[in-house]
Amino acid sequence: MLNFTVGPVQSSECVRAIGAENVPYFRTPEFSNLMLENERMILDFANAPEGSRAIFLTGSGTAAMEAAVMNALTRADKALVVNGGSFGTRFVQLLQRHDIPYDEIKLERGQPLREEDLARYEGGDYTTFLINACETSTGVKYDMDIVAQFCKRNNAFLIVDAISYFLAEEFDMTELDAGIMITGSQKALACPPGISILALAPSALEKIASTSVKCMYFDLKDALKNGERGQTPFTPAVATLIQIHERLKEIEALGGAQEESRRIGALARYFRNALVDLPFELATASPCASVTSLHPTTASAYDIFTTLKDEYEIWVCPNGGELRDLVFRVGHIGALTTDDYDVLLDAFRDMQRRALI
Ligand SMILES: *Cc1c(COP(=O)(O)O)cnc(C)c1O
Repeated sequence: MLNFTVGPVQSSECVRAIGAENVPYFRTPEFSNLMLENERMILDFANAPEGSRAIFLTGSGTAAMEAAVMNALTRADKALVVNGGSFGTRFVQLLQRHDIPYDEIKLERGQPLREEDLARYEGGDYTTFLINACETSTGVKYDMDIVAQFCKRNNAFLIVDAISYFLAEEFDMTELDAGIMITGSQKALACPPGISILALAPSALEKIASTSVKCMYFDLKDALKNGERGQTPFTPAVATLIQIHERLKEIEALGGAQEESRRIGALARYFRNALVDLPFELATASPCASVTSLHPTTASAYDIFTTLKDEYEIWVCPNGGELRDLVFRVGHIGALTTDDYDVLLDAFRDMQRRALI
């Protein structure tokens, strides 16, 4: 099987080998050290400001999105949220669920964020800005610089869901002055799903300390306190955390986050440059390096997904809802090489010969 979805993605051999081991007991100095190293490497790769902390929450990416909303916002806040697809909609649903007043910048699917989309919200007393740096459902990358400038001008606390962006694009928490960066184990970290990560700037730590959270599992105060000694309040996904450690060390040894995003960017370019003779159009003018969204002009996107899976043992990522037949996605995260893309491109050419596309 060759997996080009956007998560879970293919893992390196050493990460997979850990999955075959028994899960060790974790209330030990050894596991604490591993967790402290995990925290250090995440904060380093995100270039988080001095005094930041990272939390590893057992739960998928949405768990960290919900924890961010519950710990950094109250009903006294006013949020501004970018909604350009299903992950933007998820932030909106979380704000609704937790009774946080908000306004929504609704974008067409695949549409980049422009200065003029932000202009009418200028001076709107927003305390918090929420955005998915990459809206994975359409593969669109948002211009984080104009977002950061908007937040600085308007004194808004910035929460970035970088789940499919972190390590695929350069992400600098300090430069963006982001309060919270969220990522997850099954995207560019290329580990099994189950862990979501919050990098928290000192501004976020202040908010967490003063917010009363009506939920035990998602109250980050306890997680921060336990994390000081490299522990978690409850049993975490121990094996996944050990795999994350292996993977973070692997990235560090190969030159760090910058080098990893360069590698992923090169794979994305390799694939996009090879598409010229195929009947696909890019579904967004501003694609993120982690994923290429394609609109097939001669066949149903969902049929292409099914044929690749059933007849070629290749997985691309289908879309749901109204995009089901219009768009499919090819990921560039995980343990993939240009040879793997050659296999996919050959399959497309074979499907072309068979008049399937
Ligand atoms: C994958 C992803 C998530 C997390 O989804 P889960 O299924 O909860 O892991 C959230 N936001 C974005 C932008 C994503 O790509």
